[in-house]
This record gives sequence, structure tokens and C-alpha cells, in this order.
Amino acid sequence: MTEVTLVDTRTTEAKRLIPGATGDWEVIIGLEVHAQVSSNAKLFSGASTEFGAEPNSNVSLVDAAMPGMLPVINEECVAQAVRTGLGLKAQINKRSVFDRKNYFYPDLPQGYQISQFKDPIVGEGVILISVGPDKQGNFEEVEIGVERLHLEQDAGKSIHDQHPTMSYVDLNRTGVALMEIVSKPDMRSSDEAKAYVTKLRTILRYLGTCDGNMEQGSMRADVNVSVRRPGEDFGTRCEIKNVNSIRFVGQSIEYEARRQIAILEDGGVIDQQTRLFDPTKGETRSMRSKEDAHDYRYFPDPDLLPLEFTQEYIDELAKHLPELPDEKKARLVSDMGLTAYDASILVSEKAIADYFEKAANDRDGKMTANWIINNLLGKLNEAGQGIEETPVSPDQIGAIVDLIKAGDISNQIGKEVFEIVWNEGGNPAEIVESRGLKQVTDTGAIEAAVDEIIAANPDKAEQAKEKPNLAGWFVGQVMKATGGKAAPQVVQQLVKSKLGIDG
Ligand code: ADP
Ligand code: MG
Repeated sequence: MTEVTLVDTRTTEAKRLIPGATGDWEVIIGLEVHAQVSSNAKLFSGASTEFGAEPNSNVSLVDAAMPGMLPVINEECVAQAVRTGLGLKAQINKRSVFDRKNYFYPDLPQGYQISQFKDPIVGEGVILISVGPDKQGNFEEVEIGVERLHLEQDAGKSIHDQHPTMSYVDLNRTGVALMEIVSKPDMRSSDEAKAYVTKLRTILRYLGTCDGNMEQGSMRADVNVSVRRPGEDFGTRCEIKNVNSIRFVGQSIEYEARRQIAILEDGGVIDQQTRLFDPTKGETRSMRSKEDAHDYRYFPDPDLLPLEFTQEYIDELAKHLPELPDEKKARLVSDMGLTAYDASILVSEKAIADYFEKAANDRDGKMTANWIINNLLGKLNEAGQGIEETPVSPDQIGAIVDLIKAGDISNQIGKEVFEIVWNEGGNPAEIVESRGLKQVTDTGAIEAAVDEIIAANPDKAEQAKEKPNLAGWFVGQVMKATGGKAAPQVVQQLVKSKLGIDG
């Protein structure tokens, strides 16, 4: 394949994906994310939405499209869509319409999908993403436009590999509520697309409107990709269907962009296609030529009235919206004095933010943040565990911070206590007490230790008068001799005065 450079026109430095470029190309990306609404029942029936149930156990007569069955809108799903719209700072449309999108598949027995076409429940919104760091360690904040959000039904699942001559169908998902969240073609690199999906998932989880579990199919993305020479008009796009992990979103874009560039550089043209990503090969391949909206023969569903809301209804939902990641981040920076970087790590997952807020309750926020980021998250990362699996509770880490803050233990001993709590559990204050880890601030005891080390090393003590840096060695020895329990400032001071070093 041709060697090319894909440029992100927002940064001055070309993002060189493959060395040895033949020219600059820009990638244009727009995403349609399908997010399963968190609700107990389906969009138009009372059947359960529970994941992992026996095949065809969550199917009502409506889902099975028995003659004469009529859909009844699930109000909770509507409220969830409005909450999501509010969370995306989007226009909430007071009137929206359900349409029939006609296509026949065995996994949707109605013969059409109930969706929204011309009049969706939510209009334009915006998602702020942060990409980076670049070589200077800077993050770039970019606003990505949301075109619309609409409600629609999911389809079931056809199973072709369990019988030599027959196909099976599982209708458990049939009729489950989805929000389709359509972005504007505002992304310019695979990193931006990954950051967009990540941020959207975080917002949905904060809102509690979708669990965001991509492995379970609760969230998946159709990835639209086109390329152009910088400054030219948009080119023809291809749509990669049903990409089910953030990593695959990135990989499919990079493969697809290079595929299109190779065709264009050979003088070819791009066919508007629907494609599939094959994760084992890392390639996209054609599924069908792209259908247009008119192929679906959309028309308003005569079984359903348009949805109509009052301003009071919207205001009421807005009033009970939880604090969202961008606002939480701003508050952690302004009220607790955290750096923007630390705050963004803590808000990146709702579970981490909840953990932090419990631990930092009535404590030094900055110090607690440091402990969580540097010790807890680092250790969890090493262990390949998420915050949900932490063996150290917010109260336990908070207690360690308290002990350091009170001067009972040094930072170093704090790390030891953390290890003990991680492995064995227990109350940090009791651990410090019972294991004799309390910091020695008694000057007399420390002085004795300093004298002993100096007496045992007369040559080094002599040299230290010329080479003041050697003081560090003495401090280290004293700390070792006291099992790390001596207060480091006191040790430093005593070592210097005993060695006759100024300052
Ligand atoms: P369809 O249902 O035909 O896929 P939608 O309007 O639902 O159409 O979605 C179109 C998606 O394609 C949007 O996310 C939009 O941002 C994106 N898109 C539109 N034009 C381009 C383009 N030239 N390159 C990449 N993405 C594009
Ligand atoms: Mg589409």
C-alpha cells in the first residue's frame, strides 16, 4: 500500500503514521454511536432487558410482532434520552416523531424498525474532548459537534453457526431501546475519534443513561471515514458498521484512511460503501454498497403519537441531573486546588471520581489526589484491575493521608502501610501502632543514631567537610538504622550540624 502521511490540520506538526510520505492527506471522521438505554423494560414493550438471559426468554408478543399487537412507549426510555440530550448540552426538541424504517430481517419480526428520522428527540449538541499529550506534554481541547440523538429499537440476533442447514434467532434484544448519537464530521484523527467515544461513554455513565459496556454490546459505533487533500471539499465516505471497542475504532480508521488514499493516489475513485472491520486481520472489507435514506421508505408510524414535552418536564429532568465530568473537573481545580491534569484523571471514570470524593471528604484534597493517582491507580494498573476491584477502600487511603498529615508517619512509611493494607487489609492507624511504625521525632533518639553512624565512619565524616553532598549518604544511613521511622527533616538538620556543614 502507498506510503502516506495523515495530517491532523489542528496541530502544526504532521502526525506521521507511516514514514516516507508521498503527500499530505487529511482524514475526516464522523461517528454514529448506538448506546443501549439503561432501563428495565424495552422501548415499546414490558419485556425485560436483562443481559445474558436464556435465548428468547425476554420476548413479549409485541417484540415477536404477533398480529394486532400495538407498541406502547416506555416513559423511562424517553426521560433517559432527554437526560442524555441535556448532558450533551443539546437542543431538546419538544415535539418528535417515530418513523418506520422498512427492512426485513428475521431478527426484527415486525419487518420494520421503529426509529426517528426527520424529527428526532434531541438536536444539536457538543462534546468537549481532550487529545494528547504531544511532545511538549500539552493536551489539546477540541469541541466535537453532535448532530442529533434519536430513539430507536434494537434488532435481535441471527445465529448461523450452530446447525448445518438451519439458522437460529434470539429475539431477546429485539425492541430494546437504543439512542443513536450522531456526530458531525468534526474529527480529524483516530486519536480524536477514540477520545470522542471515551468521553461520550464517560458522560453516559455519569448520567446513568447507558452502562457503556462495549463488550456486552451496550455501546457500538458506526465509523464514517473519508479523506481529502487539506483545504479541498469533503470526499466520499465509507461507513464501517458496528465497531465494538475503542481500540478497533482507532484501527479501523487508520486502515480505512490508508485504503482510500491508496485508491485516490492511483487515480481511482471511492465508492460509497458500508464496510466491516475484521479485528483479526486489522482490515475493513466491503459489506454492501451504501443504501440511501429513500431506500428505507421512512414514514411516520401510525401506531404511535408524536412525543410532546412541556418546558416544565425538561426543567424537572435538568434539575436532577448529576454533576458531569467537565463541571466536576472545573470544581476540583477551583475548589480543591488540583492541577487540571490530576483532575482530568480523577473524573475520567465515574467510579474513580466517586472514590476520590469519598476519600477526600474533609481532607487535604491535593494530597489525597496524589495518593490515589500515584499509589492506588498505579498499583491497580500493575495488577490489571479496575477501581471497582480495589482492596484498599477510600476510608483506608484517607486514614493513611491523615497519619502523614499529622506527622505520625513519613510519606515513605505511608507507602509501606499502603502495601500492608493492600495485601492484608486492616486499619492504618492500628497497623502503625501495632507494628511500631510511628515516626520518631524525639531529637535525642535521632541524635544518638546520627552520632553512632558518624563514629563508625570517621573517614567519610572528614571528607564531608569538603564534599557537603556526602551528607545525603549519612541521612540515608540514619534512616536505614531507624527503619525509616526517623523524621527526615530532623535527621537532615542534625547530620548537617554534626558534620559541620552550613545550611
Ligand atoms: P447515514 O444514516 O446515511 O449513515 P447519518 O446522517 O445517520 O447518515 O450519519 C452520517 C454520519 O457520517 C455522521 O456521523 C456524519 O458526521 C458523517 N459524515 C458525513 N459526511 C462525512 C464525510 N465526508 N466524511 C466522514 N464522515 C462523514
Ligand atoms: Mg449510518
